[in-house]
Amino acid sequence: MAADCLFCKILRKEIPAEIVYENEAAVVIKDIQPCAPVHLLVIPKQHIESLNAIVPEQAAMLGQLQLAAQAAAVVAGTAQPGWRLISNVGPGGGQEVMHLHYHLIGGKILGWTPD
Ligand code: 5GP
Ligand code: ZN
Repeated sequence: MAADCLFCKILRKEIPAEIVYENEAAVVIKDIQPCAPVHLLVIPKQHIESLNAIVPEQAAMLGQLQLAAQAAAVVAGTAQPGWRLISNVGPGGGQEVMHLHYHLIGGKILGWTPD
C-alpha cells in the first residue's frame, strides 16, 4: 500500500467506490467516469506502479486479475457478446493513476479505436 495513491485509498476504504467483484488478489470497481455502458477497473490489492514494474514472481497474482475480470464481466452482464481489457502504461500510454489496473469495457459492440 502507498500512502498517497488513489487506488490504495480506495482499497483502504478511505475513498468510497462501487465494488462489483473481489477475489484474493483484486478488487473490481466501477469507473467514476465511464466511457461505455460497462466500464470497470480491475485493481490489484498489492501496490504495483504499472505493467512496466511487474516481475515473474507476480505471475500467479496477475492471473488472478484476469480471473477477476472474467467474473466481473459475468456480474456486469457483458460476458456475451464480449468485452475488452486494457491497461494504460505510463504517461505515453495514457496512465493517470500510477497503480496498475485494467479497464474492463463492455455493454455495447466495441469498435477498435486505440487512440
Ligand atoms: P488511467 O488513466 O490511469 O488508465 O485510468 C484511471 C481511471 O480511474 C480513469 O478512467 C478515471 O475515470 C478513474 N478514476 C479516477 N478517479 C477515480 C475515483 O475516485 N473513483 C473511481 N471509481 N474511478 C476513478
Ligand atoms: Zn496504490
